[in-house]
Amino acid sequence: MLTLTTLASGSSGNCLLLSTGRTHILIDAGISCRRIKTALNAVSLHPSELAAVLITHEHSDHISGLATLTKQYDFPIWASRGTAGELNRRIAFLEDRLFPFLPGSSFCIGDLHIGTFPISHDAAQPSGYTVTDGHRTAAVVTDLGVVTEAVLAAASCADLLVLEANHDEGMLLSGAYPPFLKSRILGDCGHLSNRSAGALACAAVSGGATTVVLAHLSKENNTPTLAHSTVSDTLSCSQIDPCRDLQLTVAPRDVMGAPLAV
Ligand SMILES: [Zn+2]
Ligand SMILES: [Zn+2]
Repeated sequence: MLTLTTLASGSSGNCLLLSTGRTHILIDAGISCRRIKTALNAVSLHPSELAAVLITHEHSDHISGLATLTKQYDFPIWASRGTAGELNRRIAFLEDRLFPFLPGSSFCIGDLHIGTFPISHDAAQPSGYTVTDGHRTAAVVTDLGVVTEAVLAAASCADLLVLEANHDEGMLLSGAYPPFLKSRILGDCGHLSNRSAGALACAAVSGGATTVVLAHLSKENNTPTLAHSTVSDTLSCSQIDPCRDLQLTVAPRDVMGAPLAV
């Protein structure tokens, strides 16, 4: 059984826990070390029990707690070569603990098999992840501007999908962001809209996903209700019942989500 718990999700910080019961990993550490410790404690875990921390990319909302966490606890850190280079530059004494990989490669951590795939985002070498315990697979697909074949393949093999639903295009375009920022978010190296998330959710559910967690919502250009309803409507248009055929949830921004098991 794979259990996902989001510790935080959104542009103010991202961190999620995947656990088999024996092996526990974090994907990203974009909230303070103190918050990570408190959240782990709430699910009866201590940071010293973490088998590894996987980083998607070097933006601060994904790594802001990493420096302090690595000073206090001795876990390995997995990141793409490009991301590892950025981490090495920003955080002292990290080199010996970094396990760089090329997106597309795979490796094992404890009883988890980790797959990686490139994503299109304005960072050095961002990577998405699939995590499987041999029976069930979770895929983490956030911070990307376009859905590529590699992303589609990862989502289609997932039982549980953590899926970016960053913004509502109408809210973004009519909102207060300056034009360059709107272009960045809407561009191929930006973030996925609710509409794009809906299309990818359809592909994932058609491939067998039973749980979809909408994540990395913009505070300014989205609401949990809007993200949920847009994705639900897209699923319904594909003859997928969003209430009966899957569990569709939205990861809370600043607090832990309820653990989800597949
Ligand atoms: Zn982000
Ligand atoms: Zn980012």
